[in-house]
Amino acid sequence: PIIVFEGIEGTGKSHHIKNVANYLTRKKIKFIQIREPGGSANSEKIRNLILNNKSTFNKETDLLLYLSARSENIEIIRKNVGKKIILIDRFSDSTIAYQHYGMGVNLKFIQNINNHLLKNIKIDFTFLNTVNLSNMKKRLKLRKKLNRYDKFNSKFYEKVQNGFIKILKKNPKKYIRINSNLDIDLNENIILNKIKDLI
Ligand code: C5P
Repeated sequence: PIIVFEGIEGTGKSHHIKNVANYLTRKKIKFIQIREPGGSANSEKIRNLILNNKSTFNKETDLLLYLSARSENIEIIRKNVGKKIILIDRFSDSTIAYQHYGMGVNLKFIQNINNHLLKNIKIDFTFLNTVNLSNMKKRLKLRKKLNRYDKFNSKFYEKVQNGFIKILKKNPKKYIRINSNLDIDLNENIILNKIKDLI
């Protein structure tokens, strides 16, 4: 299966994907792990271009760069689908949440290019990591230096997170919402139990 971890910064997405990867390694189950933007060598180059640039690109250029990074990963996904478990740190939902709900880029424009890239690739399940507003503000402050959306306030992240939740509500059977305000061990268990069902 193809399993995606989504959510805004500071929600524990990367922690949980690492925990699942450790579990699969322990069980000797074959998997690959990709992050977006990034993942493959070319895609990491594009990641550097986007993230080390303090977002001086316009929003459509930004979108096209994120999609370019995805385009470079699609081949890897296609090669492994059905053979190995595929774990992805951010995918299409991030593009819609950040670039459409956050930045206001036209939804159809995003979906058209994305569908063209993905063709028959379907996501089996998504863990959407969320955080409540006051914790979001605290966490973003701690990560400020790493954050390319410095010029935006927490209102921006609120829009992005609400965007993710709208996407989840359209297809609730394929998502679990992980509340990162809860105990991390509890969330690890929820995620691992679902992973065991999926594999
Ligand atoms: O996954 P990670 O937190 O490393 O994401 C890197 C950065 O890229 C984050 O700051 C995130 O906000 C941004 N991003 C974005 N649009 C996407 C995917 C990621 O702005 N579609």
